[in-house]
Amino acid sequence: MTSGGAVTITPVHVADLLADGSLMPVYVHVVDHPDGRLLVDTGLTELHPAVADLDPRLRPVAEWDLDLASIDLVVNTHLHFDHCGGNHLFAGRPTYVQRRELDDARTQEDYTIPAWVDATGVRYVPVDGELELLPGIRLVPAPGHTAGSQVVVVETGGRPVVIAGDTAVWFGELDDPRTEGQRLVRALDPELVWLSHTHEPWRPSAV
Ligand SMILES: [Zn+2]
Repeated sequence: MTSGGAVTITPVHVADLLADGSLMPVYVHVVDHPDGRLLVDTGLTELHPAVADLDPRLRPVAEWDLDLASIDLVVNTHLHFDHCGGNHLFAGRPTYVQRRELDDARTQEDYTIPAWVDATGVRYVPVDGELELLPGIRLVPAPGHTAGSQVVVVETGGRPVVIAGDTAVWFGELDDPRTEGQRLVRALDPELVWLSHTHEPWRPSAV
């Protein structure tokens, strides 16, 4: 097992959405591990009439400060449009998603933007349950926001760091966990939790 001390996580702000009158950021997360470079979620890269009400403000991919070619593996926490819209940028690279999520995204009405899920060349690796992707980096199902959502748990040598997608959309949902996924994240006793739609990671209160 590789010690997690060498793993770094970098948030990349790729867009903003308008939700209830205020701007909500969209982040993706790069995980640098000695054995590979992982991207968790891919944001969005285009506008689409189906989500015009959210008035997406896109940051051009060239300004993401991310060398696309350097990404070895992609993980989708879930397949809502603002988490898979850049999957096409990584065509051919293994893209890990829970099988349940992939099935739901492909079969349920108004779930996501199907053309973005199955963009040309996107190569899914459907996962059933937990998976150790790299030493010390696990995918863990976390149902709640969607039935097929997963989180990425990064062992650091101390308490783990979690990249949780929309398992919680705002901090209150981890302060007062209600879904199975939120409770699971809390049960991991994480040092901090990166979310897709907050500028800072959630941290447990010091109490
Ligand atoms: Zn989202």
